[in-house]
Amino acid sequence: MNAAPADQIRLLDVQALDLRLTQLAHRRETLPEHAEIRAVEAELAQQRDLLVAARTEESDTAREQAKAEQDVDQVRQRAARDRQRLDSGKITNPKDLESLQSEIASLARRQDDLETIVLDIMERHEAAQARTKELTGAVEEMEAKRVEVAARRDAALQEIDTEADAVRAERAEVVAAVPDVLLKLYDKLREQQGGVGAARLYQRRCEGCRLELNITELNEVRDAAPDAVVRCENCRRILVRTPQSGL
Ligand SMILES: [Zn+2]
Repeated sequence: MNAAPADQIRLLDVQALDLRLTQLAHRRETLPEHAEIRAVEAELAQQRDLLVAARTEESDTAREQAKAEQDVDQVRQRAARDRQRLDSGKITNPKDLESLQSEIASLARRQDDLETIVLDIMERHEAAQARTKELTGAVEEMEAKRVEVAARRDAALQEIDTEADAVRAERAEVVAAVPDVLLKLYDKLREQQGGVGAARLYQRRCEGCRLELNITELNEVRDAAPDAVVRCENCRRILVRTPQSGL
């Protein structure tokens, strides 16, 4: 294959722009903000689960408290009725009196027990309320953090995309001057050789595979016509000659 030396040099410019695009794509993928957002979202999901549990506990204990207070009320009302009967003087039978007094005493103990239960539930309810408040704050904080990191990520992506657009525009301009066949070969090699299709021959070394050419190879390159498209014997990339090639 033949191509004007100037077109071969242009291929090096295309290669430099392609490497820049590869770097930008890599930077896009590996922005630290991606990992940061994943961590914030994991934390957020955990805090939200805890918040749901705390809210459930809060409403459960509220219901329990209402029920326990109702129980206390019933016992209190029954004791009041019993005391009224006792105070009315209508019950004279000693056995009935004793039974009534015993029931009043038993109701008093029962009320004590129930009031202890109510206090315990109130404590749990207050703890759940405090926990809900704390977790609501934590979730809000995490949500704000996610918004902040996402904004940072989007700004970084925007910056990368703007630069990539500029590089692509420049590439389109350079490529327009490169013969199609040369460009096709370059693109094919670039795909096969990890993103590098054309390399400079610099001080007897192929800058694609970094190997120094041996004497035979150097002589062949030296003898090749200036418009011959030379390939590296080792990596098969297009080897572009420049004044610094050391020939
Ligand atoms: Zn090479």
